[in-house]
Amino acid sequence: MQKKYDAVIVGANVAGSSIGYHLARNGFRVAMLDIYAGEDIGSHSCGDGLDVHEFKRLGIRMPKGEFIHGDVIRGKVIAPNRESELAAQGKIKAVHRYHFCQYLKDRAVDSGVSLVAPARASAPILKKDSVMGLKYKTLGGGALQSLNTNILIDASGLNACIRRQLPKDWWVTEQVDKKDIAVCYKESRIFRKPLVKKFIHGYFTSEIAPGGFYWLATRTTKLINVGLGINYRYMPLSPKRQLYTKILPRHPILKGSEVVWRGGGLVPRRRPLDCMVGNGFLAIGDAAAMVNPMSGGGIGPGMYAAELGGKIITAALEERDYSIEKLWQYNFQYNTTYGPVQAGNYILRKIIESLSDAQLNALLGAKLFSDKEIINVIESGKLELGYMDKLRKLGKLAKHPKLLLKLRALYKNMETARKIYRNYPADIDGFLKWRNTARKVFNKI
Ligand SMILES: Cc1cc2nc3c(=O)[nH]c(=O)nc-3n(C[C@H](O)[C@H](O)[C@H](O)COP(=O)(O)OP(=O)(O)OC[C@H]3O[C@@H](n4cnc5c(N)ncnc54)[C@H](O)[C@@H]3O)c2cc1C
Repeated sequence: MQKKYDAVIVGANVAGSSIGYHLARNGFRVAMLDIYAGEDIGSHSCGDGLDVHEFKRLGIRMPKGEFIHGDVIRGKVIAPNRESELAAQGKIKAVHRYHFCQYLKDRAVDSGVSLVAPARASAPILKKDSVMGLKYKTLGGGALQSLNTNILIDASGLNACIRRQLPKDWWVTEQVDKKDIAVCYKESRIFRKPLVKKFIHGYFTSEIAPGGFYWLATRTTKLINVGLGINYRYMPLSPKRQLYTKILPRHPILKGSEVVWRGGGLVPRRRPLDCMVGNGFLAIGDAAAMVNPMSGGGIGPGMYAAELGGKIITAALEERDYSIEKLWQYNFQYNTTYGPVQAGNYILRKIIESLSDAQLNALLGAKLFSDKEIINVIESGKLELGYMDKLRKLGKLAKHPKLLLKLRALYKNMETARKIYRNYPADIDGFLKWRNTARKVFNKI
């Protein structure tokens, strides 16, 4: 027999479990599906660093529990020639990703979410111009079944298995361009001897991680996470191969360390989607490209959107209005709060990724910013006003006219990108005009 749910969520990872928890706590009937069995959810997930500043800025509580690996560490960015460095990343707290996902999933289930797993969502069910339910199969040869729901939430990760199946004229079906995707590979390794000091280092080098970066991030004095992301357009270059042939030989500290976990994944690194809702539908997390394009961190933005989405869906369910107009506030609130940060960092990412190793060495060597200033840029997606003055005074970069040209354009372009999202329309009527402007401006940039 079919059961009517208030909300059905596809995907029980960070974004899905978090929004499920908020909705169930508000007393709604929620079902959540995942391809993985309950005890395996999170076992294939990659990321394990929580950007403390994202949680602070977005006003969400920092998760607490045994899944936290220890102290907060400040990350550094190292030049390709390793001669200069910047404390360019804010503070990071490490989590054991599997235990963290299990905690989020259990928290949702304990609040009343019905977990349907392992089960594969196959397609949305539409009636007239609204989503009304979901078709799915339990794994292991189950027949096609369906769930009735008022709101269907796609939290299935970058593949966005529901969002991309909606009618093509729905605004929410915008595709993520391959040029805005990083192909990642990561290993967790145990050192033979514990380290004296922990560190997090990010390396931007087009020779090793073209269109991305690689990192060495200690999680405890015994455990390190080493990995890289390469822009999709450099495929079939294999990130795993790059790790073994280029990164390991470059860092003797990794010699003899034992691999305890390995895996890969795709990360969207773009500005926010133009629209993340439809009639009876909402997308969240990687399924809505909610990732900081510079750091690749999607846990903070996903959890923030879960709080936001939880409130907005609650209002829609209470008023029995599941229309795109009612859900529009989710677009508006995300895009005018985190949107400018994501859009500004998208422009920064594009510029950084267009620089050669020689230009990156010159830029990092020039000490254009203090550590504090650069952290602020990544955290806010915004350059300080004094930036242009600094550029003018910086004789050191005179030998790099092309780099200077790009850096001059950077300030204006980041500001323009931020402004576009600050001006996201509060109601649906202004959307098409906004989208036209946004597309024109971003294409031009
Ligand atoms: C190598 C790597 C390192 C990263 N490092 C960090 C980091 O340090 N910090 C950080 O904040 N972020 C990091 N990220 C990004 C972060 O992991 C993602 O942003 C985050 O996992 C997104 O969560 P999500 O819930 O939206 O999607 P996902 O984690 O992708 O979860 C989607 C869920 O949906 C399920 N699913 C998919 N399709 C279906 C279907 N058809 N039916 C049912 N279920 C389905 C999947 O099984 C999965 O459980 C990293 C990513 C990678 C690849």
